[in-house]
Amino acid sequence: MTIRIDEARVFEIVEARRPSVVLVNAPGGLLRQTKDLMEKVKEKYGVTCILAGDSCFGICDTVDDEVEKLHADLALHIGHNAAVTEVGDHTYLIDAVDDVKFDEVVESAVPILAPYRRVGLVTFSQHLEQLEPVKKALEQRGFEVSVGKGNNLMLKGQIFGCDFSTSYPLREEVDAFAFLGESEFHAVGLALAMGKPTFMLDPYMNEVTDVAKAAEERRKRAILAVYKALDARVFGVITGLKEGQKMLGRSRWISKRLEMNGRKVVQIALRDVTPERLTPHREIEAFVQTACPRISVDGFTFDRPVLSIPQADALVALMEGRDIGDFLERPKWIELTVGLIKK
Ligand code: SF4
Repeated sequence: MTIRIDEARVFEIVEARRPSVVLVNAPGGLLRQTKDLMEKVKEKYGVTCILAGDSCFGICDTVDDEVEKLHADLALHIGHNAAVTEVGDHTYLIDAVDDVKFDEVVESAVPILAPYRRVGLVTFSQHLEQLEPVKKALEQRGFEVSVGKGNNLMLKGQIFGCDFSTSYPLREEVDAFAFLGESEFHAVGLALAMGKPTFMLDPYMNEVTDVAKAAEERRKRAILAVYKALDARVFGVITGLKEGQKMLGRSRWISKRLEMNGRKVVQIALRDVTPERLTPHREIEAFVQTACPRISVDGFTFDRPVLSIPQADALVALMEGRDIGDFLERPKWIELTVGLIKK
């Protein structure tokens, strides 16, 4: 497999904008290719490229605010393809595409998906080009295949780890979801948000995995954390400082509701919500973080409850005597504020 960064678009941008300094950021898995690209831009155009070396997990991790701080002219955010091509004041989204084919794993999936005749097809940024060929292949085997419509941020059939809004409307039309890619992270999120059987089709290992067990484990942990937090008297409410995760309004709303229910609240702002950052706050018995929801849903290393927005909603419901319902089954777990999207 080869992951290709859309270099042609980068060259086009550099030729049109003629920058002196370009700021670049990319997820860990694309750092090697990104550094090669930086070298090419430097050699070809004499442009200084600076790699923003902080963590970059998703489209929420743009570095638009850093452009001015570093006296750069523009930013390139690599690898989180989306329906938009520019965000914020300075940032261009640069696609990266994986050329791996799904033919073999689709063959393996046919007998496993057979009990579910109506299948919703979903993937993440790098495999979007494979949706159509896989759809055709499954339809030729007699499946009825649906692909969710795109929206202002995501392309047709695309999900992020916290935003499943393209697939959510398909829930009643399909019997199961097939996620294309080797990312259990995305497949489990999809299963939790859809409440439907979900299978991950991994083209590298040629494996088809039912993620029900992994999803159920996360769901139980998420519920347990909510009930543990119910006993807490002192809460830390954390607002994320990453550009796409700044949910100040939600932090204020949750803080207010906790206080109305007799809890003490300390508001905290953090770029990275990690166990090390939370350890010094010994007096705090539970946290709510309105940044990336997967920190809470997948973060198994915290010593106190650290709730995401959907869990905080469930907590408030419990405090106010309401039913928590299936709180993870919703189209989005966070309203991404990606550079306050421009185009
Ligand atoms: S907030 Fe969403 S897009 Fe950002 S890292 Fe978390 S799951 Fe991914």
